[in-house]
Amino acid sequence: MQYNVIVIGSGPGGYVAAIRCAQLGMKTAIIEKYNTLGGTCLNVGCIPSKALLDSSEHFHNAAHTFKEHGIDISEPIANIKQMITRKAGVVKANVDGIAFLMKKNKIDVHTGVGSFVDKNTIEVTAADGKKTSLTTDNVIIATGSKPTPLPFAPFDKKRIISSTEALELQEIPKHLIIVGGGVIGMELGSVYARIGSKVSVVEYLDSLVPTMDGTMGKELLKATKKLGMDFYLGHKVTAVENKGKEVVLKAEPKTGGAAIELKGDYCLVSVGRRPYTEGLGLEKVGIELDKGKVVVDDHLKTKVDNIFAIGDVIRGAMLAHKAEEEGVYVAERLAGQKPHINYLLIPGVVYTWPEVASVGYTEEQLKEQGRAYKVGNFPYKALGRARASMDLDGLVKILADKNTDEILGAHIIGARAADMIAAGVVAMEYRASAEDISRMSHAHPTYMEAFKEACLAASANRPIHL
Ligand code: FAD
Ligand code: NAD
Repeated sequence: MQYNVIVIGSGPGGYVAAIRCAQLGMKTAIIEKYNTLGGTCLNVGCIPSKALLDSSEHFHNAAHTFKEHGIDISEPIANIKQMITRKAGVVKANVDGIAFLMKKNKIDVHTGVGSFVDKNTIEVTAADGKKTSLTTDNVIIATGSKPTPLPFAPFDKKRIISSTEALELQEIPKHLIIVGGGVIGMELGSVYARIGSKVSVVEYLDSLVPTMDGTMGKELLKATKKLGMDFYLGHKVTAVENKGKEVVLKAEPKTGGAAIELKGDYCLVSVGRRPYTEGLGLEKVGIELDKGKVVVDDHLKTKVDNIFAIGDVIRGAMLAHKAEEEGVYVAERLAGQKPHINYLLIPGVVYTWPEVASVGYTEEQLKEQGRAYKVGNFPYKALGRARASMDLDGLVKILADKNTDEILGAHIIGARAADMIAAGVVAMEYRASAEDISRMSHAHPTYMEAFKEACLAASANRPIHL
């Protein structure tokens, strides 16, 4: 079988690249080693975690806010088995949707492990050992990533688990210990804290979600403490042991002091993910790795002329929409177009409640650059909309250039921040000033009014409702 493009890996990077290649008239195939398409994101990542976040949020509201809203119900019971079953249905609908899109775009799907024979030949090995040889003009590597274990405590998938197992638990943990207060730790920690688990998060650095603007980590700490989550920031984990019916974690404060020992029924290790290239046979074509990542140039091309790589397997943020942009980029380059990706404006979102969402520079980055900037903050508690919905935690923080007023960063923690951040992306893509946004009408009452008010605060220090 001869193709113009073969994509290896069917996550959001790979399947989007394949669709865009097919739209542009290339004969395209996609290779996926699992029986379902969609990669980490659809099967064991973005989609199932959001399904459980939504279910647990409904439960939390039924247990804690319905009464005040005037809805009297008997005490709700969290049925984890049903939550996991519903989640599986959501995943199935999504992965079936990708299979439909492959058919619609006449993309051949080959199930099995894809491996380079040479730069134009890929061998696919199916689960039963059957091998198929495919030839192609171009290859896009989109093989994604896997969870990183602690060096001294590999995943046993029973007590020491990754996000994949944490999305499949058949019981509500009595005590869930989490190593890593990043995105996965905070999202899955919220799920279990809401449905009754005691949750303890041990984080090496001094703040949660440390790659985001510092204000976001501080506010998220306050909000999730209200959920009853416990935090051990600035702690170095020294041991995690499966003791059969329980797991025991030991950690020491980085700055000295008494060590801690936590006993729980599960320990979720969420200390980042690592690029996945096993079985690809990269050595056969001379492709280089840097700390496990496939090395690419500014056009996402590897050292080999006709081989490209995208998504989690290369440098940059490990995000589904970043992988998608890169998939489109490579397809359009192959078609002779001149696409562009503005990496600064790829937003990041944490789907806790309140949600956290950021785009552009953080205050810490602006300080490091020595750039003169202004800050405008506006709290949710001053919003009529937030009072109506009882979502008073959070704020919008706008960073703008001190001299030109151009928006340099937008950071939101609060209800629906995940959707609101798109306004920050649009504003920054069009290089809007904070004053530009503050002079545009925003519907009342909406959470977006906090965005407008934060822009007023940043541009001229004159918010109306504060
Ligand atoms: P992947 O999605 O990892 O897909 C790679 C695919 O390649 C896999 O299906 C794999 O089986 C296949 N493969 C690998 N090697 C071979 C081979 N040799 N032959 C054939 N197939 C192969 N990101 C967000 O933007 N938003 C979120 O809300 C979000 N939530 C997440 C929640 C969790 C719990 C996790 C773990 C991740 C989450 N992410 C989220 C990150 C997101 O899932 C990844 O950034 C995204 O999936 C990367 O896409 P990708 O296409 O590069 O790779
Ligand atoms: P992460 O990088 O978000 O967080 C890892 C955290 O673990 C960091 O805070 C880090 O300081 C801490 N850490 C590292 N080593 C440690 C140690 N030995 N002891 C204690 N703490 C330690 O990684 P993650 O949460 O595992 O997520 C993996 C990837 O998946 C991320 O790149 C993320 O972008 C992506 N993801 C995205 C979303 C989303 O977009 N909503 C959701 C989940 C995952």
